[in-house]
Amino acid sequence: MIPDLSFQDVRLIQIPIYQDNYVYALHDDVQDVTAVIDPGDGEPVIEALEQEGWRADTILVTHHHWDHVNGIEAVKQHFDSVVVGYLYDAKRIPHIDVKLEEGERVTVGRFQSEVMFIPGHTLTHIAYYFPELKLLFSGDTLFSLGCGRLFEGTAGQMMTSLARLMALPDDTVVCCTHEYTETNVAFAKTIDPHNPHVLEREDEVARLRAKSQPTVPMLLGEEKKANPFLRWRDSTIQESLNLLGEKDVEVFAEIRRRKDVF
Ligand code: ZN
Ligand code: FE
Repeated sequence: MIPDLSFQDVRLIQIPIYQDNYVYALHDDVQDVTAVIDPGDGEPVIEALEQEGWRADTILVTHHHWDHVNGIEAVKQHFDSVVVGYLYDAKRIPHIDVKLEEGERVTVGRFQSEVMFIPGHTLTHIAYYFPELKLLFSGDTLFSLGCGRLFEGTAGQMMTSLARLMALPDDTVVCCTHEYTETNVAFAKTIDPHNPHVLEREDEVARLRAKSQPTVPMLLGEEKKANPFLRWRDSTIQESLNLLGEKDVEVFAEIRRRKDVF
């Protein structure tokens, strides 16, 4: 669910594009500044922003995949936006202006976000973390009850990246870019069928999807309890994979492998 940030004079909106992508727009009401995250398409983003009376001052990009960058040109042209991305992804992000490295900060209105280098889905994937707003834009790395496919990175890299995200506070709101939760719940049940947090999420997701409502953003604390891709240490999951006591990375890799063919 989109968090209510009005007490900080901030608004966050979620713009659905294509089959199952979300673009986010974060607006600081005090400075009247907007950041758009991963505009995979132009028209719907421009339309949504104009409806709010916002301008896309900044475009934040998590990684180079087409469904995250294809709208950059149109949005930038329309609003004269500054495009921000990872230094080592710069060749693959069209119209990039500001190239950042791990640990560097980017300012949106009164707020700062930290760049977190989280390879796995791609080798140059980053997240934007706004500590004061408790917001994490996780791109295609952490989904609700899922994680991104390993297009470029290894299971070990993805596991390390997810472990870094897991170390953030439990009340962090995870703004991920895909509506995959229904399938992810079904998969989670195959390896963690008795987890009450998975079953609770299943009910919630069914209710939301029946009304065509988004199931994300979600709370990091809830994910830690239900998302199998964050639970490689859990003995119940290890047991159901016949990997009790195995190395973390072996367990994680097996979960990822099973999901790939689910
Ligand atoms: Zn992607
Ligand atoms: Fe994607």
